[in-house]
Amino acid sequence: MLVPTLCFNCESACGLLAYVDKSSLEVRKFEGNPEHAGSRGRNCAKGPATINQVTDPDRILYPLKRAGKRGEGRWERVGWDEVLDTLAERIRKALQEKRNGEIMYHVGRPGEEGFTEDILKAWGVDGHNSHTNICSSGGRAGFHYWMGMDRPSADFSNADVILLVSSHLESGHYFNPHAQRIIEAKKRGAKIIVVDVRMSNTTTHADEWVSPYPGSEAAIFLSIARHIIKKGVYNRQFVRRWWNWHEYMRLEHPREPATFEAFEEKLASLYEDYTFEFAAGEADISVKQLEAVADIVARAGTRLAIHSWRSAAAGNLGGWQVSRTLFMLNALLGAVGTEGGLFPNAWNKFSPEKPLKTSSPEHWNELTFPAEYPLGMNEMSYLLPYFLKEGRGSIDTYFTRVYNPVWANPCGFDWVEALRDEGRIGLHAALTPTWNETAYFADFVLPMGLSSERHDMQSQETHNGQWLGFRQPVRRAARVRMGETITDTRQVNPGEVWEENEFWLELSWRIDPDGSLGIRRHFESPNNPGQRISLDEYYGWIFDNAVPGLVEKARSEDCSPLEYMRRYGGVQVSEGLPALHESTVGGDELEGTHVNEDGRVYTRAAPAPSPNKAPQPSPEHDGEGRRPAGVEIDGEIKKGFPTPSGRLEFYSRTLKEWGWPEYALPTYIKSHVHRQRLDEGQMPLIATFRLPTQIHTRSANAKWLSELAHNNPVWIHPRDAARLGIAEAQRVRVETEIGYFVGEAWVTEGIRPGVVACSHHMGRWQFSSPNGQSQAVLETTLSRDGENWSLDPSPGEQPLAPRNSADPDCKRVWWTAVGVHQNLAFSVHPDPVSGQHCWHQAVRIRPADPADMPGQIHVDTAKADAVYRQWLSLTRAASSVSPDGTRRPYWLLRPLKPTKAAYRLQESGQ
Ligand code: SF4
Repeated sequence: MLVPTLCFNCESACGLLAYVDKSSLEVRKFEGNPEHAGSRGRNCAKGPATINQVTDPDRILYPLKRAGKRGEGRWERVGWDEVLDTLAERIRKALQEKRNGEIMYHVGRPGEEGFTEDILKAWGVDGHNSHTNICSSGGRAGFHYWMGMDRPSADFSNADVILLVSSHLESGHYFNPHAQRIIEAKKRGAKIIVVDVRMSNTTTHADEWVSPYPGSEAAIFLSIARHIIKKGVYNRQFVRRWWNWHEYMRLEHPREPATFEAFEEKLASLYEDYTFEFAAGEADISVKQLEAVADIVARAGTRLAIHSWRSAAAGNLGGWQVSRTLFMLNALLGAVGTEGGLFPNAWNKFSPEKPLKTSSPEHWNELTFPAEYPLGMNEMSYLLPYFLKEGRGSIDTYFTRVYNPVWANPCGFDWVEALRDEGRIGLHAALTPTWNETAYFADFVLPMGLSSERHDMQSQETHNGQWLGFRQPVRRAARVRMGETITDTRQVNPGEVWEENEFWLELSWRIDPDGSLGIRRHFESPNNPGQRISLDEYYGWIFDNAVPGLVEKARSEDCSPLEYMRRYGGVQVSEGLPALHESTVGGDELEGTHVNEDGRVYTRAAPAPSPNKAPQPSPEHDGEGRRPAGVEIDGEIKKGFPTPSGRLEFYSRTLKEWGWPEYALPTYIKSHVHRQRLDEGQMPLIATFRLPTQIHTRSANAKWLSELAHNNPVWIHPRDAARLGIAEAQRVRVETEIGYFVGEAWVTEGIRPGVVACSHHMGRWQFSSPNGQSQAVLETTLSRDGENWSLDPSPGEQPLAPRNSADPDCKRVWWTAVGVHQNLAFSVHPDPVSGQHCWHQAVRIRPADPADMPGQIHVDTAKADAVYRQWLSLTRAASSVSPDGTRRPYWLLRPLKPTKAAYRLQESGQ
């Protein structure tokens, strides 16, 4: 029997088909689902490797409670009832005592469309925390300031020129759906330009591989922009219609005529200094190559497709200007909302209305959105241990989910310290299918379903079109097809593995047993009053009411919309959207119209927001209670973009008014690893890249993937290796500003001279009584002497699997090196504007000492504290820069947006 579901091994949400053995009802293998509009039947290696995770004999099958002290490694099995009652009682008490800010849900990969955010809203808790500021905040911020939406959705298939600032073909965001479309374009003759310090697999498909000095990318893009402006090949009509040049001229040059011609003169002079010679000097590349690349881009017209995600935007101080200057190329050429151009993500992603009637929390959580970072794109998640140590607050109940902060964040030793301290974190529940470094420091370890063992709804901006995918527990679907009634996913999952949807619904139900907290009403069954809503009712409501065309499609197959989604695993909602900003606004939408001096059109009254509508990008109202309805362009009212001006914001009044006037226009910020900032002997270390066949820490129990990739050597150019006396495969000590780690050298011309690199995937570790599969895991000792922390591999015990695993295949592990957890030796580097952790490190590298072991790490956390305070001092806090007494511009996107009243600085109480 073939049952569709969605892969959950990255955020692409590709379709999978589970091959279910009808006699045993076991899943035999996973392949691609050809009905899936995003992935079209194709997967990367991690999709089919889901079978390893499902059949892993060492996986967590039952809820566990710690038996000794936190982190001691002793566990006892408990029932779900005990878990639920313990959590419900704590959360109920916190809510009754108005300690809503002490409940925190910390997620790595959501893999869903806001289900859990609705749960937190129902509880009245501003407790959403994400990993985004160690990942994509820098990339998002640059796009967000331009267009009010924070991600690019490139129409790769139809592009003539594809410009990637990443290893996007193999490991970027939504890379499998994107990679197949990029290769389609290449076959058609499209030119591919890859800007990447390393020679990734992606660069091997490039017509031009630009390997710049790290952090110089924005200078490169501004020199290309200058070239386009100087040659006069920019799309004059597009710039005139859609850039907010009126606002720029009015506010920055009030004495000059506010004409487009006057603006063009300014534009020509603004970037005068960004010559090819200057940019090539910053990047240490040839002027000739830069000229060639600029010519290719300039000829792309409206068929320029770009992408930037982590990479340079996540590596450098000011990295958010990389995506901002990159988007400027599209904005100059008018390649926005065009065939082969770039679409805002929100146009191509479909997030339907949902049935839980929840509203915004009424308080502001200072632990996630502190006043120092009013423009931070996402939660300042990786600073949490420092905020707790400073006494800014404490956490009563802390959930981690698909998230391993000890491993994923810089300086995980500070996380270990925070997690061990019950005064800082009262209870920690780790929701995870597999063991990880953070679960080890939990009070409850709760086994959650893998992609074939859970429900979720997911959509991504994979191309110009919209689809909605449906992840489902395949054995549940199989048994229902065979006539059984299944009411709880634990009835079909292995052991007592549950799924989060049912867990959260049941927990919410128990938090408010008599309905007095106003929570229970959100979860009442629409069909059985007094009963909790079931997942069939939840998803049934969405598919019946909120997905255009689905009811008709289901009717044509003589089934219900829910049955249709269970049969196909998803539905295509639309294909080939037009340029939505050009849509004409009219009729009732324009009642009581007011047009401001820059052409922004407001209506008289703001309609009441639908409580269960998916959050949409929305600029703020005009202060008079009027709602932005469009923007006046050449006498017509167009829908425009969800920015304050309604246009693409070349000029950001927000940045100017919120304390960063020097960044009001796209510009180049010198990185913290710029040559001028390095000391003698230091080199930049690139730490932002992924291995194509690994999934952060979640792939530890996928044995096929471990065989493909299990080590993260330090890339070093032969010239540097010779200069430093380092040979291939030699142990090296890499010294950071807070300590060192020991790795192995990979001497390769695939990295530019003067730069070293190390992938952030490997170097997993456990203690002497390990849990779970461990084919790529070190056995280690964690020790502390005051502020000095060490992680020391046990001699001769790497990897653990042959000794430890119940899987006979693990006896055949042939490799010995499993890499190093380099993040432990990094300190936090929060960008003062975007909040993004700036990953690149200034390091010294030398041959290791004779006693050094690969995987060994030593850190002085007092130094880490000092670096944290140094970067914190770069910020400009809302209390000193806010132009309107609020803590953050209301129009900026924010997960789980609180009420507008909570934005006021004086209303910070929780
Ligand atoms: S790209 Fe690979 S890991 Fe990601 S969802 Fe698709 S198949 Fe799964």
